[in-house]
Amino acid sequence: MNAPFIAAASPHVMNTYGRLPIALSHGQGCRVWDVNGKCYLDALGGIAVNTLGHNHAKLVPALQDQLTKLIHTSNYYHVPNQEVLAKKLVELSGMTNVFFCSTGLEANEGALKLARKFGHNKGIERPEIVVYEKAFHGRSIATLSATGNPKIQDGFGPLVEGFIRVPINDIDSLKQATLGNPNVVAVFFEAIQGEGGVYPMQADYLRAVRQLCDERDWLMMIDEVQCGMGRTGKWFAHQWAGIVPDVMPLAKGLGSGVPVGAIVAGPRAANIFQSGNHGTTFGGNPLSMRAGVETIRIMEEDGLLANAATVGAHLAGALAAALKTELTAGSVKEIRGMGLMLGVELAKPCAALVGQCAERGLLISVTADSVIRLVPPLIMSAAEADEVVAILCPLIKQLLAKSN
Ligand SMILES: *Cc1c(COP(=O)(O)O)cnc(C)c1O
Repeated sequence: MNAPFIAAASPHVMNTYGRLPIALSHGQGCRVWDVNGKCYLDALGGIAVNTLGHNHAKLVPALQDQLTKLIHTSNYYHVPNQEVLAKKLVELSGMTNVFFCSTGLEANEGALKLARKFGHNKGIERPEIVVYEKAFHGRSIATLSATGNPKIQDGFGPLVEGFIRVPINDIDSLKQATLGNPNVVAVFFEAIQGEGGVYPMQADYLRAVRQLCDERDWLMMIDEVQCGMGRTGKWFAHQWAGIVPDVMPLAKGLGSGVPVGAIVAGPRAANIFQSGNHGTTFGGNPLSMRAGVETIRIMEEDGLLANAATVGAHLAGALAAALKTELTAGSVKEIRGMGLMLGVELAKPCAALVGQCAERGLLISVTADSVIRLVPPLIMSAAEADEVVAILCPLIKQLLAKSN
């Protein structure tokens, strides 16, 4: 094997992440290995990105084939797989048109531009967009302004104006905050908040917002960057409520690791951008489009929506069983989420679990200080889910038993 890696040494990389002292080398399925040969079970999936896990036997040859053809051209020309992927996303979502970009924040930034132009087209000169407490939409200036986390905003003011912030799952607050305001153009939120702590929007709330948006001619814009692409057992998390949004940003899982973002729009939003209104160099390139097309094809072939639902329910059940005493005592506050997007909220901060789990060979994340977030590849098996529980839960108990 390689000589031991001197971990935690990247002196020329900007210091924006509190990294673990681990350097990963390769992966297979739901497992990854570090440069010293240690194996980890991957319950993080690159933060909800590696839909098909690592080194997938169907995805890799397709990407290799694409590399020999074209990686990048330009949006000056047609990219045939843009139409293939757009048609597929339109079918799966019940919406009508797609713009391709490369990341989540870009998809959201584009959605915010759409909402503003929608307003301007109606003669609203200072459009306002409703956003939510604990929301996360990205780290560009506009998307961090839409984000509901002061830690992400600190130091980057002045923030972009034109946002109204409300609490989740509270239709009266939404009505109150927008009462008599003619400048509101859109409501923008995650169907399940990810970074904010895995908080799902309730189905009743989603239906009530849909109705309000229809009544008031607002765009319903649902950020499915993290919770979309099959993670909850439906293609898009809002589909559990039986509604269709007007605008839906996607990214993360769409390319199974290759950067692909998309703004999916329904009829009310599909024709807002005209030629010259929006663009991106990398968006929709042949490699990323192939990754998107193949990811969806493989997900369908291999029944991964059903797998996400079944294994997700199994994982949630196994966590609840293993943490029964702690749930009763209240030291574990809640296990929430859907499919393979689960959060375990503890009654105390638990960031230390990330390193402790890694030492025992498990990759997880902790978000919002006290929420363990599990967003593994959608290929995870029930046996692997049991392994997650067997490593994670004893460490949770140990952490809770400590007095501080
Ligand atoms: C990760 C995330 C984003 C930002 O995506 P990037 O690709 O990191 O820009 C936006 N919205 C949600 C809900 C996310 O989880």
